[in-house]
Amino acid sequence: MNPTSKKGETTLPEDKKGKTYSFDVCSQCKVYCCQDAKPPLTETRKKIIKQYVNEQKIKVDQPFARENYSYPAVDALLYCNFFNKETKKCSVHSVKPETCVSGPITFDINFKTKKIEYFLKKSEICAFAGVLYTDKAAFKTHLEEAKKQLIQLVCQLDAKELHAIVKIDEPQTFKVDEDDLPIDLVKKLGLK
Ligand code: SF4
Ligand code: SF4
Repeated sequence: MNPTSKKGETTLPEDKKGKTYSFDVCSQCKVYCCQDAKPPLTETRKKIIKQYVNEQKIKVDQPFARENYSYPAVDALLYCNFFNKETKKCSVHSVKPETCVSGPITFDINFKTKKIEYFLKKSEICAFAGVLYTDKAAFKTHLEEAKKQLIQLVCQLDAKELHAIVKIDEPQTFKVDEDDLPIDLVKKLGLK
């Protein structure tokens, strides 16, 4: 779904039409998943975003924050500092974090089965998820891309960061698929 035009830069096919696949739905949304999202950032993603912000001369006072893992810094209302409240768009859309590209598909790690599990937000909390789920072809394409993005992410994060991230509850989602964890990740997580 996302051929890469520049190193680390993601171009969604729908961008070529001048608006995103989800924009019509998301622009009406009152939830805004860019509030209190705190998408995980790898060091590689931070470098890519930093470079993009410099090249595009995007003004962001504080781009990144860190607690148990790194994420884009947020304002007092917990809006991501990259969220443009006027346009209601992401100012780093083409290089945004892996979980932002994957949304409304999210992930969890099942340490017992050694699987990565994929979940979709319920339509009650994300209208776009409902639209996507009813368009089977678009959903399949998006799920494939989400899997690529999320596997890349979990392979680059360290074990402590991953443990902290999967502890975050994501209610109102349902499981749509699962895959075996890559063997290197099984080793990194100390799973037998
Ligand atoms: S992805 Fe879902 S929650 Fe986020 S802005 Fe779009 S409709 Fe709203
Ligand atoms: S990086 Fe962009 S898409 Fe992700 S939470 Fe921030 S504003 Fe939203």
